[in-house]
Amino acid sequence: MTLTGKMLIGGAAVSGVGSVFHAIDPATDQLLDPAYHGASRTQVEQACALAWAAFDDYRETTPSARAAFLEAIAESIEALGEALIERAMAETGLPQARLQGERARTCQQLRTFARTLRAGEWLDVRIDRAQPQRQPLPRPDLRQRQVPLGPVAVFGASNFPLAFSVAGGDTASALAAGCPAVVKAHGAHPGTSELVGQAVRQAVARCGLPEGVFSLLFGAGREVGLGLVGDPRIKAVGFTGSRGGGLALCQAAQSRPEPIPVYAEMSSINPVLLFPAALEARGEELAQGFVASLTLGAGQFCTNPGLLLAPRGAALDRFLVTVAEQLRQCPAQVMLTPGIHQAFSAGVEALAAHPQVTKVASGLPGDGPNRCQAQVFITDAEAFLADQALHTEVFGAAALLVQYDDVAQVRHLLDALEGQLTATLQLDAADFDAAHALLPALELKAGRVLVNAWPTGVEVCDAMVHGGPFPATSDARSTSVGTASIRRFLRPVCLQGFPDGLLPLALRDANPLGLRRLIDGEREV
Ligand code: NAP
Repeated sequence: MTLTGKMLIGGAAVSGVGSVFHAIDPATDQLLDPAYHGASRTQVEQACALAWAAFDDYRETTPSARAAFLEAIAESIEALGEALIERAMAETGLPQARLQGERARTCQQLRTFARTLRAGEWLDVRIDRAQPQRQPLPRPDLRQRQVPLGPVAVFGASNFPLAFSVAGGDTASALAAGCPAVVKAHGAHPGTSELVGQAVRQAVARCGLPEGVFSLLFGAGREVGLGLVGDPRIKAVGFTGSRGGGLALCQAAQSRPEPIPVYAEMSSINPVLLFPAALEARGEELAQGFVASLTLGAGQFCTNPGLLLAPRGAALDRFLVTVAEQLRQCPAQVMLTPGIHQAFSAGVEALAAHPQVTKVASGLPGDGPNRCQAQVFITDAEAFLADQALHTEVFGAAALLVQYDDVAQVRHLLDALEGQLTATLQLDAADFDAAHALLPALELKAGRVLVNAWPTGVEVCDAMVHGGPFPATSDARSTSVGTASIRRFLRPVCLQGFPDGLLPLALRDANPLGLRRLIDGEREV
């Protein structure tokens, strides 16, 4: 497929009529062809109208038809071949192997949702049969299942140009739920977005689905993005990006005449707790693991370990020596966009200028534009507790180590933190009691708690939680990765007193979909 610079409004490839922009190769700061144009207000409305028109038919498709659609999208993405990887490399500065892995993850994600659809647990069917003889009052027949919310606006993320962009996790979970998706492409990778958009459009046609099931729009967040969120036909929003962007979308969604949910994944510094026995026994190995996790993908992961809490003493001193040795060998890596690089540089400068913060070491400097020079800083618990600015995410390979005097202080540090996507414990058997005492505090703060691992690397599976209290996400009850993310775009409906022939298949007595349903409090086998 070739790049045309066109958006996809349903089945039609159309040129935007708004302001022009180009992708930028962040490795060289060169503009890339073709030119793209933002959508006009009318074009945003057209995409929303098509999505709304498609919703009635699309939500009535069977789970297996939607599963086949998701599998068709995965096949179409794979059929794009290396052209997709080459374009994504040029637009993001990410290396080939990372993007190939991300493509595999994207397709696996779509196929995992297909499996979930066929298994049917997501419908969460609950049936309480009528009890006409019940005293003092009879019970009516009550049957609950999950139904889709309606068209979803998806904002492609800059840092996952495939797995969290046009056909990424938000789109896959919305489509799986039975919701049409209108995607606002991230302006940093429009060519990658167009190629994947074409692949989705092919799958829509191949599966005979209504064209409005999927649209892809380009343009600025404050126009196209807010236009989408404000459109009455959009019923939910999926977003990954900055705290400012996420909050702006939440505010817009809440000020509509009909407010809608926004699932925004925003910022997290992902504390890592180094416990005394583990630090003493394997400080060198921990230092190596930490630097590898910190610098992976230039640190441009929402689960990047940006905060370490460690006990003051000789073991920490040895740990820091190895961190410095490792870091000084880390080459500078190209960041995703000039804007992200500027924000990283500003964050690092603020840490370096802080009177209570000292630099531990830096990575190698870069010799081109937008290079991320990895950084590790150190401070103490009092300084960290006294200044909220030190709790702010620096998106990229930068971390702050906070040294503590005793484990009791760790509880204060955790209580002072904002909500997090992850919290990590590096511990040995002798640390169990201390870790055990902190677990309730950790579960209050984070969506995922890890032991003896590093938080970068998020498995797409049934048990994953990629969420957490604000500002990690705007809704701590949800996950944006894994099959449970489908729940964001569903709501329960209860049908009371329906004759069997009027019930949807999932709720009928004969259970034609073969679901494991909860009937009168017992799980069907
Ligand atoms: P971003 O600026 O939040 O942009 C993400 C998307 O939201 C873009 O489509 C953007 O549109 C739109 N948007 C942003 N502000 C908006 C607003 N006020 N109203 C409506 N739409 C808005 O994120 P980014 O471009 O990916 O990176 C910028 C910074 O975000 C990074 O430096 C980093 O701090 C943070 N970030 C964090 C994560 C994470 O997972 N924690 C991931 C990525 C980025 P435009 O294209 O018009 O800007």
